[in-house]
Formats: sequence, structure tokens, C-alpha cells
Amino acid sequence: MILFKTAINLSQYLTHKSGTGSTIGFVPTMGALHAGHLSLIESSKKKTILTVCSIFVNPTQFNDPQDFAKYPVTLDQDIRLLEAAGCDIVFLPSVEEIYPNGTKQQQAFDIGYLENILEGKYRPGHFQGVCQVMYRLLEIVKPGMLFLGQKDYQQSMVIKKLISISGWDISVSVIPTLRESSGLALSSRNLRLSEKDKMSAAIICKSLLYIKENIQPGVLNNIIEKATLMINDAGFEKTDYITIADADTLEPITHWNGETSLVALVAAFIGGIRLIDNMVIT
Ligand code: AMP
Repeated sequence: MILFKTAINLSQYLTHKSGTGSTIGFVPTMGALHAGHLSLIESSKKKTILTVCSIFVNPTQFNDPQDFAKYPVTLDQDIRLLEAAGCDIVFLPSVEEIYPNGTKQQQAFDIGYLENILEGKYRPGHFQGVCQVMYRLLEIVKPGMLFLGQKDYQQSMVIKKLISISGWDISVSVIPTLRESSGLALSSRNLRLSEKDKMSAAIICKSLLYIKENIQPGVLNNIIEKATLMINDAGFEKTDYITIADADTLEPITHWNGETSLVALVAAFIGGIRLIDNMVIT
């Protein structure tokens, strides 16, 4: 595995490799890696010739400075895990490498209504930050394939939109969410949960499963209320949203025709940590 810290060295190396016909697979991450991230690396290794993973905790996508300051960093372990997983290249840029002109004056991206719903509504500016970092990373790496997790459902849609408005020819693979045996979705933020809160947090997955298994065509209020109660009763401090939406557009669905593919999405706080999860209902 080769480690790069500067954009110029990485892009020169990759340009040389692409010249020899390599297909580059890219897995962008914020580190504190777990098996979910490694499943993206595994998918990239299966489908491409050269797998690049970036580790960069992007300041511009954090609307809460405390959340940024407390984001877990486990760099030595991350490098060991990536090497063991057979990743070819790891990119570890500094903030200055990604934002040579500073983080304040950034380009704005027109991602339409996706910007202000769900995660965008509760984390103002978050998706502009995601677009800023992804635009820069994709320009540096120029991958043929990008590997993203379904865990961040809306983020995958935003990045697909960014790729489409930028006119890039990058195919996006969205990889299913890896979970603990309790059902809790693997997340770097779980490192900040107490064991007790971690056990309670499994109710998010259970409430999503409850929706998936009990949903009926018609008005969806009751099933959402039941799922909300399940989460509140498990000791969550706050729920930003529990919603059922069109799986393709993320538009909220309050009355289901029994045919549209749906996704149920949750964002809720336990032990001061904000967790998100989702489940597709077909
Ligand atoms: P992050 O480091 O949280 O920015 O995540 C980097 C990538 O890993 C994103 O595409 C995430 O959607 C994906 N990811 C995070 N958690 C999981 C998981 N439990 N299973 C699969 N992919 C995940």
C-alpha cells in the first residue's frame, strides 16, 4: 500500500497508472474505519484494478463545531486495517491540501431540493460541505468507480447529483449497510457511545424493521408514530426525524399506494451522539 499526503503526488501517480489502463476505484472516508468501510474496499477490489481510499475529516461538512472536534481519529489502526484489506493507495491530505484557498470562500453547488430536506434541514450547510470535499477529491483521484455506503442514503444521492452536474463519467456503487449482530448500523460515531447506549441504540434498526414488516398501503401516520414511540421509549434524547420517503427521490410519502419503492429514515440522539440509519422497503 502506498501512502500519499499531497494532491499533486497522488494525481501524478494516478495519471501515470491510468495511462497504462488501470481502472481506479475510490472509497472516500473520514477514518475511524470499521467493517462497513472495509466492505467498500472489498467491493472496489472486486470491480477495479487499483483501489484508493482517502481519510479526511472534512471541516466544511460539520455544522456543529463540537461534533467536528470530537470526531474519532484512529489513524494508525486505520492504516493497518487498509493494508490488511489489500487497499492499494491511501490518501491522507491536510486541510490545506484540500482547501488551498481556505475553507471560507467555497464554491456553491446546485443540488436542488436534496440540500434542504432531512439531513440538510437538520444540518444546515452539511451537503454543500460534502460537495466541496467530494468535488476536490474526485478531481484529484479521477476514479472510474466510486464506492459509497447506503448507510448515508441521502449523501449517496447528493454525490450522484454532484457527479451528474459536473458531467463526470463515474459509476457509483452503493453498498449495503453493515450492522452489528444487534442490528446497530456500524458507524465511526459508535466509538463515542457507552456500552449501555450502544445496546439501546439497536432500537433504531428494530424500528426500521418494524416499519418494513408492518407497512400497509394507505395512510402511514400510525406506523411512524409507533416507530417513534419505540425509539423514544429506548432512552433517546431527541429524534430529528423518522420518515418514510420515495426511495428514488426522497420525497416524503404520507399515503402509500403499495407500489412505490420506499425508504424509511431515522436520525436520533442518544448519549449526545447523533445516529442515522435507513432501510429500503420494496
Ligand atoms: P464516513 O467515514 O462515515 O464518511 O463513511 C465513509 C463511507 O463509508 C461512506 O460512503 C459511508 O456511507 C460508508 N459507510 C459508513 N458506515 C457504513 C456501514 N455501516 N456499512 C457500509 N458502509 C458504511
